[in-house]
Amino acid sequence: MVSPPPPLKPRTRAALALGRVAAASSRLLGRGSGEVVGGQLALRLAPDGLADIAQGRLIACVSATNGKTTTTRLLAAALNCCGPVVSNSGGANMPDGILTALAQRPRTTSAVLEVDELHLPAVATAVQPHLIALLNLSRDQLDRSNETRRIAASWRALGGELPDTTAVANADDPLVAWAVQGFRAVVWVGAGQVWTADAMVCPSCAKLLRRGPLASGDIDWWCPGCGLRRPAPSVSVRHSPGTNAPDTAVILIDGVPHSPSLLLPGRCNLANAAVAVAAARELGVPVLDALTALATVGAVQGRYATVRLGDRPARLLLAKNPAGWVEMLELIRADAVRPVIIDFNARAADGRDPSWIWDVPAGLLAGRPVFVAGERADDVMVRLAYAGIDATRCDSAVAATAIAPGGPNGPVDVLATYTAFRELVVATGAAT
Ligand SMILES: [Zn+2]
Repeated sequence: MVSPPPPLKPRTRAALALGRVAAASSRLLGRGSGEVVGGQLALRLAPDGLADIAQGRLIACVSATNGKTTTTRLLAAALNCCGPVVSNSGGANMPDGILTALAQRPRTTSAVLEVDELHLPAVATAVQPHLIALLNLSRDQLDRSNETRRIAASWRALGGELPDTTAVANADDPLVAWAVQGFRAVVWVGAGQVWTADAMVCPSCAKLLRRGPLASGDIDWWCPGCGLRRPAPSVSVRHSPGTNAPDTAVILIDGVPHSPSLLLPGRCNLANAAVAVAAARELGVPVLDALTALATVGAVQGRYATVRLGDRPARLLLAKNPAGWVEMLELIRADAVRPVIIDFNARAADGRDPSWIWDVPAGLLAGRPVFVAGERADDVMVRLAYAGIDATRCDSAVAATAIAPGGPNGPVDVLATYTAFRELVVATGAAT
């Protein structure tokens, strides 16, 4: 029997109560759910509120540039085998949102928290997690978090602050591997790295990294300057030779192959599942129970959901940075040819600088009918033109479904940046 967390300090309780009032006022005024406003006020009134509310809980944090929302959901599902789990499943992954999520379930001991990569040091120092799962680091929101090595350095400094925390880390991302060197205990996962352009040089000494295949089929990496090298993972995604098709891949756990039968598609979700099962095992969940639980997770906040858009079945794919685009293009290309609709914004939450689209290998769209919508559709049209892709500009993603080939019930894939994706999810009711 797991004992519930201890009572909160009076100051934290009062701050949370006032935060709830602020959140309710925000809702009454029609300014959204109010969760962020309420959490912000509570943290201002009780700056150590996050540390207080985390007392006595078993906490796992998940951070990354891509895949943290899905991996958080997978890990929460696996940990749920051992009892109730609280999670910030709505996607509010900064300190205010995390405080609000924990406050909503004050007697639930286990928590799986998605944490924004820039806020991980502050959150982890406050909540003192049992475990931190780190998947990858790459450029995202160029006006906010383009300096991947700086983020990795902030993660690296965390090791000294968290002497009792185990890191579950992707051995295939050199930035992540370097970042967790300060942690006393590390579980290495061979989760793969399709996008290497943000990890060309050694994060330790800035020499050009070398890469080459291992006998296992994994890609080794090493630094000829300082000796930093890919650690040997205990859990890894293993693809059949010569193919990247997810259905032929397994998760190797201590050398034993397991087929997880995921509902979620693509190589990136197998990687997310490998990290989740490694983390769950570390938290005491039997491997087979964890794998069974992972197989029940479907679309997460609309990601990979198939919805009705216009009159067509549309698969919603979030692609908000070059690494994410590479993963989604790989996923699209694994299936039969469908029309692709790109819905592209560059608001604050997307990053206002969309120039990263020039790093996307847009030529991989060749052979597919492509339609472009969104506030920055013109930027995308120029990028596609330079890649030799003949695309059609549309007023909206819905308008694109009306003219895309394939007939009234022909499926389409929609690739959307963060704010465009969120609007599609709300409009189609795809959030779960
Ligand atoms: Zn080096």
